Amino acid sequence: MTASRSDSMRGGGRETGGPAADSGFRFGSDHPIGVAVLGMGNVGTEVVRIIQEQSQDLRQRVGAPLVLRGVAVRRIDVDRGIDPELLTTDAHALVTRDDVDLVVEVMGGIDPARALIGTALTAGKSVVTANKALLADYTGELAAAAARSRADLYFEAAVAGAIPVVRPLIQSLSGDRVNRVVGIVNGTTNFILSAMDETGADYEMTLKEATRLGYAEADPTADVEGFDAAAKAAILASLAFHTRVTAADVYREGISRITSEDLETAAALGCTVKLLAICERVPAGPGEPGSAQGGKDRISVRVYPALIPRKHPLSSVNGAFNAVVVEAENAGRLMFYGQGAGGAPTASAVMGDVVMAARNKFFGGRAPGESVYAELPIAPIGDTPTRYHVNLKVADRTGVLQAVAGEFAQHGVSISTVRQEGQDEGARLVVVTHHATESALADTVAALAELESVTSVTSVVRLEGTEE
Ligand code: NAP
Repeated sequence: MTASRSDSMRGGGRETGGPAADSGFRFGSDHPIGVAVLGMGNVGTEVVRIIQEQSQDLRQRVGAPLVLRGVAVRRIDVDRGIDPELLTTDAHALVTRDDVDLVVEVMGGIDPARALIGTALTAGKSVVTANKALLADYTGELAAAAARSRADLYFEAAVAGAIPVVRPLIQSLSGDRVNRVVGIVNGTTNFILSAMDETGADYEMTLKEATRLGYAEADPTADVEGFDAAAKAAILASLAFHTRVTAADVYREGISRITSEDLETAAALGCTVKLLAICERVPAGPGEPGSAQGGKDRISVRVYPALIPRKHPLSSVNGAFNAVVVEAENAGRLMFYGQGAGGAPTASAVMGDVVMAARNKFFGGRAPGESVYAELPIAPIGDTPTRYHVNLKVADRTGVLQAVAGEFAQHGVSISTVRQEGQDEGARLVVVTHHATESALADTVAALAELESVTSVTSVVRLEGTEE
């Protein structure tokens, strides 16, 4: 028989201390919870391994056995080290089987994952997914399907692999007010930037090495251009601020224009460069743009490479590791650190969700639904205040500094420090600003580029993680 899909089993939103009265399950009974796994790649292989190798422990933790009903793949004839009878190319038929109660989606991509998850949820089956790209755009649709049929949708593995950050935001901090979430959430770019920092090598050479070592995919665009981090930022911001945020709401820049020179000047300033995902509450103070919208706070969600001081906790997150810092009004600053990708670490997060979902089937609890009541507006990137590090190639003659400083002042961008390096043709000015809005800085840079004494604006990198 299948796990019951009665309302009372899924109602209540909490454990009841024993199997749901009408679930058909009994503690220690052999009534299984049927699991379908969609995808057997990096993550799916490890999920299947854990389900098979740790079946006894999982049974104890759930209260009923988890039984693998089937695994959907594209290539049926590949030897995957499991009973070939479990494999199928017909994911839809697998999801709709009567003896499947819980679907683990680790195939990736939008289609057919979106339709398969929708079908499973509509049929009242629990879904666990690691699919950040899908969630960043379709959480609303999937959460609505889950709510309609009182099914569970879990997605801890979609952000930062093994690191528990989704559940802390949804549950542990649900009584607090989150003001900021800042993370290094992409291992590929962190590996590249850490290696550039350590070796002084340029971006292209370091990307090649990352690809050779398996840290970057053959087509690295999603990682190096920040799309992957932006999807995760959208998910984190939605959870932190109880507002639906999609990937299109996230301002995004990748790391492909970061040069070894940027890393060198960062080092001279006591900083390093990291690709940051920043989700921030922008309070609507008197006279601030937010107050024009009924005094509502706004949120800023952005992904870009930024200088951070070496003493900042995120600066020591190196290689393929991830970390997320959450700042909440009452909890203060919390930091989550660990392996943000890889088959086994990601499968660990998936399996945590599988156990939760299976226990809900057994005990009658429910996963928390989507919480988007706050509906905070997104602040445009032009309104977002940040500090900047501006690198200029200039003519080596008197009056240059005054002309450059004049343009900053004229556009309301206050300068913190200026350093002159090199001479003659190689003369450079490195300007670090105080907080200024993106639009004020963009206007300043455009004006600087027009100055006769400025040969080029070689780079503009934001500076994050400083107190002022
Ligand atoms: P992967 O190695 O590319 O594996 C994808 C699997 O899905 C393969 O087994 C593939 O079958 C199967 N598949 C794809 N399309 C299918 C279809 N239409 N029908 C049936 N099977 C299909 O991917 P992955 O790295 O495991 O990632 C899976 C998901 O986890 C993605 O959403 C990813 O974003 C997320 N994630 C991954 C990581 C990580 O470190 N890898 C970390 C966090 C989250 P074949 O084997 O036959 O090709």
